[in-house]
Amino acid sequence: MTYYLDSHAHIISEEFEQDLDELLERAEQADVKRIMIMCTSEAEIDKAFSLVDSDPFRFACAYGIHPEDANDWQGKWDRFCEIIRDPRIACVGEIGLDYYWVKDNKPVQRELFIRQIKEARAVHKPILVHSRDAIQDTYDIMKAHLIPGVMHCYSGSAEMAVEFTKLGYYLAFGGAITFKNSRHSKAAAAAVDPRFLLSETDCPYMSPEPFRGRRNEPSNIPHIVKVIAEVCGRSVEEMKEIIAQNYDRLLHEEVL
Ligand SMILES: [Zn+2]
Repeated sequence: MTYYLDSHAHIISEEFEQDLDELLERAEQADVKRIMIMCTSEAEIDKAFSLVDSDPFRFACAYGIHPEDANDWQGKWDRFCEIIRDPRIACVGEIGLDYYWVKDNKPVQRELFIRQIKEARAVHKPILVHSRDAIQDTYDIMKAHLIPGVMHCYSGSAEMAVEFTKLGYYLAFGGAITFKNSRHSKAAAAAVDPRFLLSETDCPYMSPEPFRGRRNEPSNIPHIVKVIAEVCGRSVEEMKEIIAQNYDRLLHEEVL
């Protein structure tokens, strides 16, 4: 059985409050059978958990303190540690480094990233990593603190992509890979062993072509996988199956 999946979707965000049921129906129609629900605030957790309870195959859930919230991480830490111990949390994320939006607290971001990796290891769960304008620091930390995980919305070079996969990390590609000027993402996806590739929307952001600029949602995944398949020289069916296997492997990684 093969199906599409969205390994990074903020479907509990406000943008979907009015039509979450319809969105999930559209995903089903588009054969997007599995969704990783990304929670970036505690407020989103309960709703995400009830979806996981309703169908644990279809939904998985991740929580982490986003690097944009690094400055007040201490206030969130105890709850973070509690939440990620819940069996309905499959992965710890998104965590990482963002030097694009916030540049003046790099040491704090690095410290928080490392602390969250250590906590992910303590609960034996993979990490989902956000990295923007910070690829070298991200790589250095992930190399020094090896743990199964995903580089979400990968936007680095092809050379760096290969280095991440050598460490066992998966690379997730989203709408950006469908853009005409996305030579770098395409080259990166083509450069690595396909067993490290994942598809994601990062919805509501980053709609793929031909929906660029509109609200994104999981049912757009086929447009992304089509391009990943093209650059990898595979059929869509093959690529779907490879990505489904990769996602399943990620969720069953043994985290020591
Ligand atoms: Zn995200």
